[in-house]
Amino acid sequence: MMRFDIMTLFPDLVTTVLGESIIGRAQKSGAIEVRTYNIRDYSEDKHRRVDDTPYGGGKGMLMMAPPIYNCYRAILEQQAAEGFVAKNRRVIYLSPMGKVLTQARASALASEYDNLILLCGHYEGVDRRIVDEIVDEEISIGDYILTGGEIPACILTDCVARLIDGVLADAECHEKESISSGLLEYPQYTRPYEFHGVKVPDVLISGHHENIDRWRAEQARSLTEELRPDLLHPEA
Ligand code: SAM
Repeated sequence: MMRFDIMTLFPDLVTTVLGESIIGRAQKSGAIEVRTYNIRDYSEDKHRRVDDTPYGGGKGMLMMAPPIYNCYRAILEQQAAEGFVAKNRRVIYLSPMGKVLTQARASALASEYDNLILLCGHYEGVDRRIVDEIVDEEISIGDYILTGGEIPACILTDCVARLIDGVLADAECHEKESISSGLLEYPQYTRPYEFHGVKVPDVLISGHHENIDRWRAEQARSLTEELRPDLLHPEA
């Protein structure tokens, strides 16, 4: 079981995305738990302010440290009150300054931790002191800038959660997937047999499993060579 606690200014955004399909079902079955917390609820300001202008000037607003810290403490208290004792917890700030998320990092997080506390920034980001005080790791989902950490948090949660036992029906599903296997996945086909004049490759309807496996391995290799040669020749 993996518990995700997500600190955000937009909890509805996160619960909507993670409440559907496989990740939604995994929450209902108890394979994972996802909690969201509205950082604004932990503001010390009577107007529930959570941001202010940066010292030294500059554009935009920055999320203040105290509401985030209060939210983080409340999560730990709530976990204790519920009798949840994390064996290994990691606090992650979704940030374009972090290392870019890879399948290998997601696998390590899924196997090493049973509690991920995720911090979603917004506006120009967060006061650096909160990162220095509570965050163990910063993770980026790619070298581009989004308006907030909610979509990155959903991506990280989805990617890690599908590696947790009981989330996917068949554990093999993720071992054979593109990237996980070190190669891209071979092309796949389903009914109808013919679509817009293109038939399914003969080998797939031959019933000859050895030939099918060989064909798939060749296809995976040549697709990877064509589309993602960096996976095969990382030093090149
Ligand atoms: N001023 C920050 C900088 O230059 O690094 C960017 C802030 S960004 C507009 C607002 C928030 O969106 C960030 O605090 C972070 O939580 C999230 N965010 C934006 N791009 C991201 C990315 N590529 N990966 C993860 N989180 C991202």
